[in-house]
Amino acid sequence: MADCVFCKIINKEIPANFVYNDEFVVAFLDINPLNRGHVLVVPKKHYENIFDIEAKILEKIIVIGQKLSQKAKGVLGAEGVNLLNASGGAAEQTVPHFHLHIVPRWEEDGLRMNDWWQSKTKKLSAEELEEIAGKLKS
Ligand code: 5GP
Ligand code: ZN
Repeated sequence: MADCVFCKIINKEIPANFVYNDEFVVAFLDINPLNRGHVLVVPKKHYENIFDIEAKILEKIIVIGQKLSQKAKGVLGAEGVNLLNASGGAAEQTVPHFHLHIVPRWEEDGLRMNDWWQSKTKKLSAEELEEIAGKLKS
């Protein structure tokens, strides 16, 4: 897609620090990393997000995400990892080309994602939970 920054990276029109490349998928360092070794796993074909990506490509991406997580543990000494994806503007996706963030974590890295998470959780009644579960499993 002409105006897509990740398509431009894949087509080598703009530079990136690649860490993985095969027929279907690339991975490169995020330009604004949350931690050392923060990478983005990206399909070479332009899919916008989780709603339109083909399942077989998504499967490849998650397996490569696992390999890169193991690599971050092995060579960077990561003690944990977060895998994150934003799909859609409401989810605060900023680059509309599917990508899986792999964020290496250390005990003392100061990110404290759970502090933010726990400060934002919503109280739902048992009836509301039941209704939502019913809709999602229908
Ligand atoms: P999103 O907000 O869509 O989940 O994540 C987009 C990510 O892409 C951000 O973490 C941002 O730092 C990264 N990003 C945006 N533009 C570039 C770029 O030109 N090069 C690289 N390597 N990463 C980028
Ligand atoms: Zn693209």
